[in-house]
Amino acid sequence: MTRRRWIADTWNATSAALTGPQAHHLAGVLRARVGQQFDVVAGNQVRRGTVESVEDNCVRFALGEEVSAAHALPLTVALSIVRFEPMEWAIEKLTELGAQRIVPLAAQRCDRHLVQASEKRLERWRRIAREAAQQSRRNDVPEIDGPVGLPAFLETAQDARRLLLSEREEMTPLWDVLNASLEEPAAIALAVGPEGGWTDAEMTLLTKHAWTPVSLGPRILRAETAAIAATSVLAARLNAMA
Ligand code: SAM
Repeated sequence: MTRRRWIADTWNATSAALTGPQAHHLAGVLRARVGQQFDVVAGNQVRRGTVESVEDNCVRFALGEEVSAAHALPLTVALSIVRFEPMEWAIEKLTELGAQRIVPLAAQRCDRHLVQASEKRLERWRRIAREAAQQSRRNDVPEIDGPVGLPAFLETAQDARRLLLSEREEMTPLWDVLNASLEEPAAIALAVGPEGGWTDAEMTLLTKHAWTPVSLGPRILRAETAAIAATSVLAARLNAMA
């Protein structure tokens, strides 16, 4: 039987609790009852949770045996900031696909107003990631940092296999780059440009930091579509290696 999964706000070795909006939802909307069972993510484990008490702002569980769960893929996606509706959609889908870290990137051609306003969006983006993680039965929530500029981001991705999505015609297809590397990379970082594309200066900086430019084919995709398409390919590859 598939049990609904909750990511606990607080926990110890034997019990866990949901508080705030999650508790309101489970207690008030879903009418949780003592004795009901759910899967509960407590730190880095998923455990069988039996409801022990229900209050409007706190639902407590007794924790039982461990339940198997899918782990995040070792994949960071740096997505240049786009309009908030597609940005939210991308965060939800990248979470479902298994990205471990999502970085809203302030690239040179991003809309300045969107970049300024994005700081205030972080909390909402983290909530979206959390809900998508629960829905897709992950046992973790991707980190969402930022917004960060490209030079600062590059410092944080030094150890990963670095892939730069570029729509310029002469680039090698992503699939060919993956097929050419037989060894499993410890981690992959993917950078996706803004709606106006990367500037020449950014392309130079990225290649100087050993980012490999890759293509998704001859069609120009919206940034969020490109991020999700590339992540699906990388997830398929990483899942096959796991
Ligand atoms: N300004 C560009 C143009 O009009 O030619 C388009 C930029 S595209 C909308 C936004 C970002 O998505 C690009 O910077 C790139 O990172 C990614 N992208 C879009 N289509 C791509 C493709 N076919 N291959 C690789 N990356 C792509």
